[in-house]
Amino acid sequence: MSSRVYIGLGANLGADLGATLTQAALQLAALPGTQVVALSSSWRSAPVDAGGPDFLNAVAALDTALRPVELLEALQAIERAHGRERPFRNAPRTLDLDLLLYADLVLDTPRLTLPHPRLGERAFVLRPLLEIAPELAHLATGEGWQAQRIERLGPLSL
Ligand code: ADP
Ligand code: MG
Repeated sequence: MSSRVYIGLGANLGADLGATLTQAALQLAALPGTQVVALSSSWRSAPVDAGGPDFLNAVAALDTALRPVELLEALQAIERAHGRERPFRNAPRTLDLDLLLYADLVLDTPRLTLPHPRLGERAFVLRPLLEIAPELAHLATGEGWQAQRIERLGPLSL
């Protein structure tokens, strides 16, 4: 049985952020029992609650047979393969992969919270998510995300 999941991709450190996101999307497609069913455009956003360069963001929709924690561990392995370090909270990052939604699962543990806790208030998640899944507009529950600075760039080609 496979489940529809949504992954938020973000990067703000490195020479070619578009190449980082494309490569990460290919790595998602290569996970066992997993297909990428949709990939948003790339979007450039100002850092939220952090300094540093602008981010490049995207959202991928997957169908996967991986269980939630297995998938989270796979995402963290891809982050590590891109040299992700966590020197402090909200530090600039070479690659951030967040599990936004796993089917309609609701989970509240320190290791994994679903839906992702800040999903409904961040333009850099909501704009690319609603681009590929407009039926999820009810998840945009936060105030002020429409005013956050974000710009759609080109498609990410796989
Ligand atoms: P952030 O993405 O919030 O800037 P990190 O990527 O460093 O921060 O994630 C911090 C921790 O959040 C991870 O160790 C992970 O176990 C936990 N976490 C909880 N829920 C989720 C989720 N839905 N997606 C990704 N990580 C999550
Ligand atoms: Mg993260």
